[in-house]
Amino acid sequence: MPDLYLVPLEHEELLIRRGRRSGLYTIAAVHSTMRGPALGGCRMWTYDDTRAAVRDALRLSRGMTHKSAVAGLRLGGGKGVIVLPPGAPPTGRRRRDVLLDFGETVDALQGRYVTAEDVGTATRDMVTIAEATRHVTGLPRRRGGSGDPSPFTALGLEAAIVATCEHVLGSTSLRGRSVAVVGLGHVGLRLARRLARGGARLVVADIDEAKKAHAAQLGARWTTPDNALLAAVDVLAPCALGGVLDHETVPHLQAPAIAGAANNQLADDAIADQLQARGIVWAPDFVVNAGGIINISVELEPGGYDPARARRRARAIGDTLREVYDRATAGGMTPLTAAMELARRRLADPSSPA
Ligand code: NAD
Repeated sequence: MPDLYLVPLEHEELLIRRGRRSGLYTIAAVHSTMRGPALGGCRMWTYDDTRAAVRDALRLSRGMTHKSAVAGLRLGGGKGVIVLPPGAPPTGRRRRDVLLDFGETVDALQGRYVTAEDVGTATRDMVTIAEATRHVTGLPRRRGGSGDPSPFTALGLEAAIVATCEHVLGSTSLRGRSVAVVGLGHVGLRLARRLARGGARLVVADIDEAKKAHAAQLGARWTTPDNALLAAVDVLAPCALGGVLDHETVPHLQAPAIAGAANNQLADDAIADQLQARGIVWAPDFVVNAGGIINISVELEPGGYDPARARRRARAIGDTLREVYDRATAGGMTPLTAAMELARRRLADPSSPA
């Protein structure tokens, strides 16, 4: 990503440590603890350089603050990053070492940052991290945790796509709607299955060619990620990594609506205006992909985890998004501005109800 896209430095804390076991850098960014502990997943990824990894932690933690505030959760925003060297992700002893190093980074923040899984990490990795810190969520169900958050993220995203179809196309029915799902990972594949069951026609893509086998099962058309991004479909659902909507891609988009799981889809906030000017409705990512964090917040509630409550709350993302669209229309602003205003209102009054 070009250096043109800067991240505002408005964070409470940024901790960068070199692991004593692995020698790899681990990062924890605390954007805000105004509404509660800064919760956000741990991304294990290879970056072009360490600055890009720091920028990712800063961007993602900022997004988490807004995400939890708009979802009405008593949580702040944080994010963890493990900076991998080029090559295959570590396994066995090497993976354990870096996860324990990351756990120590989390623990050093004494609960101001609470971690969870994200791209590159899984529920079983949280078990290893828990050996180094108690400030970890998303542990397996058998350990009292809420397990894999992605089914809840996919559920909330489906509700958001339905609300977006209603707003843009005037109907909540998915039957016959065309959707491009870019990234068939934990969330994207589950979303694609839900949409296929609802009768949607799918275009799917992933950089991992092994995912192509899913296309036939889904009755979907497989294409390259670049083609899927620019496909002439009703809804584009970016479900891979962030930054896909930028000054180069936006002029070529053909979908009238975008709602996807990927965090930080916009290369910078000004892209929201560019999308609006093109008549494209962009559902703010931090509103529509909150299902996972909503699920984790249920784990932290007194009385413990209840999947039915988590499902009910994840589905309510559709209503939150309708409120965002209504405010945007009424105020003549972008959905991003409307959602940010909602987040700011909640952050200004941390005791405000959901
Ligand atoms: P994942 O790692 O399981 O899946 C990502 C998929 O995207 C992989 O199949 C990968 O091969 C593919 N991919 C990577 N780069 C790509 C590219 N350039 N083009 C097309 N495909 C590409 O991750 P996930 O858990 O499914 O999360 C997907 C996105 O949603 C991430 O941005 C994540 O931060 C966000 N998100 C996930 C959750 C969750 O519950 N897992 C919650 C909120 C947000």
